[in-house]
Amino acid sequence: MSKPLNVLFLSSEVDPFAKTGGLADVSSALPQAIKELGHEIRIMMPRYRFISERRFKLHDIIRLKEIPVSVGKETELGNVKSSFISNLKEKVQVYFLDNANYFGRDGIYQSPVGRKDYKDNDERFIFFCRGVLETLKRLGWQPDIIHCNDWQTGLVPAYLKSLYSNDPFLKPIKTVFTIHNMAYQGAFPADSFPKSGLPKNFYQVDGVEAYGKFNFLKAGLFYSDAITTVSQKYAEEISTSEEYGAGLSGLLSRRKKDLHGILNGIDYHVWNPATDDLIYRKYDAKSLDAKPDNKRALTGRFNLPFNETTPVIGAISRLVEQKGFDLVLEIFDELMKMGFQFVLLGDGDKSTEKAFESLHKKYPEQVGVFFGFDKELAHLIEAGSDLFVMPSRYEPCGLNQMYSMRYGTIPVVRATGGLDDTVEDHAGSGKGTGFKFANYDAKDLLKALQHAHKVFQQPEEWKKVMRNGMAKDFSWEHSARQYVNLYKELLKQ
Ligand code: ADP
Repeated sequence: MSKPLNVLFLSSEVDPFAKTGGLADVSSALPQAIKELGHEIRIMMPRYRFISERRFKLHDIIRLKEIPVSVGKETELGNVKSSFISNLKEKVQVYFLDNANYFGRDGIYQSPVGRKDYKDNDERFIFFCRGVLETLKRLGWQPDIIHCNDWQTGLVPAYLKSLYSNDPFLKPIKTVFTIHNMAYQGAFPADSFPKSGLPKNFYQVDGVEAYGKFNFLKAGLFYSDAITTVSQKYAEEISTSEEYGAGLSGLLSRRKKDLHGILNGIDYHVWNPATDDLIYRKYDAKSLDAKPDNKRALTGRFNLPFNETTPVIGAISRLVEQKGFDLVLEIFDELMKMGFQFVLLGDGDKSTEKAFESLHKKYPEQVGVFFGFDKELAHLIEAGSDLFVMPSRYEPCGLNQMYSMRYGTIPVVRATGGLDDTVEDHAGSGKGTGFKFANYDAKDLLKALQHAHKVFQQPEEWKKVMRNGMAKDFSWEHSARQYVNLYKELLKQ
């Protein structure tokens, strides 16, 4: 093997320390997969107060208040703690940048009560981005690559191209910026820009400004050496459509040659029905007979009657506009008439929660709902459902459809982003891994579910589709190799 690379991976959420969605799963699994390929990769994230010192055996790397970071006119002091993630053979070191003013809170981006974004999210992530670079200098560990993820890390490439461009230690570093979701941009009022300390001429259209705001995502997209996103289809969508590009498709299309689609993988150490301790009964493609026991446990958990011949649709999701639950609501009565059962684990938008709560009251024998975040229940839903529905408006990659396939739970998805890249539509005679529909239209979702319902009545055909999905390999190794190749390309330049 050629010389191992040094990579710093930056993320605002990393499983098991802090998670609101798929970013945390990726930020945990991808670094481990890159490490397995023989490279030195370390993670840095904020130290939120709820990350337990005891549970994760945090230890001091850089003592209290030793890292001065300018935020506006103030100097904020940081310190660094460390822990490891080690689902695989190799341990990956995680650094936590700590500052009690900014991160000594109960939420990641918003207060758990009231669900309002913290007002100083600009300052919090200015501190993080600059603090990361100051920390590297203090550690004396020089990465070849800094791999940034989403808007919270977007200022790092901008700092490297400005305040630190003559710093002999930081200057050689190349940056990769990965987009996990274009809809979250970290766009702050113009008067927040001076707090960053970036040169004045960076606040322009060819820079960090977008639509009159200081846009952290744009900073990452504009100043990084390469951009990736989490599926080929999403890369195409965001660089060609204003809607998918959320106002930044022009910039992405100009940077098309630097924009790469690399599909997320899934962590089979966590999501594998053959070894999953969180489900009722383990199984694999050769022991599918054990799967209905999970369905029995799942329906029991929601106090629904169990009937092996009743198809259960599962859903696990943040309840936000992106995820398309308005389409499900539109056709819900129809689905009930067809005899489906439906279980939802969701967290988010209160009006969507209310709508499903009243459907549960209306159809107590067919509908189960749980609102909140529950890892264990997520695993049981994957194992116990027959179908898994993801009618997203857009979906950069999506993980649950891949988990579902591994659990023999057939996904019903809208053909967008990573959903389109990972699910093959059922084409009869045992072909395909799921059911897809193209337009964002409730009638089309209904057609896909009617088709699924019909196939469910043909157990042999159904099992073939289940097995096709279970046989798919979405492991991280393949994606990790693609990232490493990209890092190497950048270092040649
Ligand atoms: P996104 O990142 O847009 O939320 P993904 O499909 O990429 O969507 O990833 C979602 C991840 O979050 C999956 O691991 C899923 O199981 C998990 N998840 C989402 N909502 C919940 C919830 N309410 N409880 C437990 N896990 C959840």
